[in-house]
Amino acid sequence: MAKKPTSPRCSFCGRTEDQVNYMIGGVEGAICNECIVSAGKLLTDVQQQTQPVIANRPSFTIEKPQAIKAFLDQFVIGQEDAKKVMAVAVYNHYKRINYVPSEKDDVEIEKSNIIMVGSTGTGKTLMARSIARMLNVPFCIADATVLTEAGYVGEDVENILTRLLQAANYDVNLAERGIVFIDEIDKIARKSDNPSITRDVSGEGVQQALLKLLEGALVNVPPQGGRKHPEQKMITINTQNILFIAGGAFDGIEQRIAARMNTNTIGFQNDIQTTLDKDDIIRYVAPQDLKSFGLIPEIVGRFPVVTSLTALDRSALKRILSEPKNALIRQYIKLFELDGIALTFANDALDFIVDKAIEYKLGARGLRSIVEVIVTDLMFELPSKKVHEEITITAEFAKQQITSKVVNRLKTA
Ligand code: ADP
Repeated sequence: MAKKPTSPRCSFCGRTEDQVNYMIGGVEGAICNECIVSAGKLLTDVQQQTQPVIANRPSFTIEKPQAIKAFLDQFVIGQEDAKKVMAVAVYNHYKRINYVPSEKDDVEIEKSNIIMVGSTGTGKTLMARSIARMLNVPFCIADATVLTEAGYVGEDVENILTRLLQAANYDVNLAERGIVFIDEIDKIARKSDNPSITRDVSGEGVQQALLKLLEGALVNVPPQGGRKHPEQKMITINTQNILFIAGGAFDGIEQRIAARMNTNTIGFQNDIQTTLDKDDIIRYVAPQDLKSFGLIPEIVGRFPVVTSLTALDRSALKRILSEPKNALIRQYIKLFELDGIALTFANDALDFIVDKAIEYKLGARGLRSIVEVIVTDLMFELPSKKVHEEITITAEFAKQQITSKVVNRLKTA
């Protein structure tokens, strides 16, 4: 009598064909529909866990300087010199990382850390952020004002690297190729010309501590930040390939630049000085001016690329409102669009917003708070209305909103 064929079993859960919806047979076994779904889910979970790291991994097929500048143009208005200098420095930096010297070729390419001099709100942070976005590397911002020498109240400089490590999802390799933006570096300038009289823990002391990071050393970093303590497990980070970009307003540096240009040059330079205004002078900033401002020579030496950002004039501010990829006006138009409202800004309204930003001396930083005040009532009322609307913001309307609201709040912003 012929043997009755046995129903195939799933090789994973052991269930038979009649216990499941369907069964797929393989060379030596079978899998049921339920195990296929479970395996699929498992695979997706594993991929999701590893994906952020993979997505962040930098591809070092680095763009050419002109392409880097073109990318920056999408986000940063004006500041042509700074964008050019930045593009070249970043290009060289990543070329240096990719460069493997051969045996007979012992040229060592030094790092091109960058220092940006320019008043607040001129786009220094934006520039650094945009570069990091382009390179798809971890990026963090450190505020130099909160740093102090180890052992004093404030933050240890190593915490800067903790932030970078966090931005890299604790992937040390990735962090070691990231970008650190040190804001307000001018605030840790030496307080007095004589360094030895008193301890200068938030000035020269921090500069000395920072040097360790800038010199391309192995630095032990507390993974969760905070003060170092003996039992804490540290992560070692090699800072050799981390690009440091520093920014600062360096208030009053123009006088130092002007003085240097006067003394170091002869004849016609005097004429130049009388015709240059504050903004033009800043374009001539050089490492020795940073030194005379109070940065120690070793720090200045570690930032070989010095560039300047100039104050933004009316036309630049107006362009900032609507031109960049994620321009303020575009963001508000999008916000309203999500409620089915077509928002437009009349040209005279844009002029009015720029006028106010200049009047309140808020520069580009103030544009957002001014627009916010203008559209708050609309954002409050319109979403509850049933009919879809088209709204145009005119200068008249903008003026009404500003005068009827907390003008003083803006003035102190
Ligand atoms: P800084 O670091 O120089 O103090 P930020 O880069 O933080 O200034 O600028 C503040 C904001 O002002 C930015 O987020 C951006 O919206 C706007 N902004 C400033 N400068 C520019 C610029 N040159 N182009 C476009 N937007 C700018």
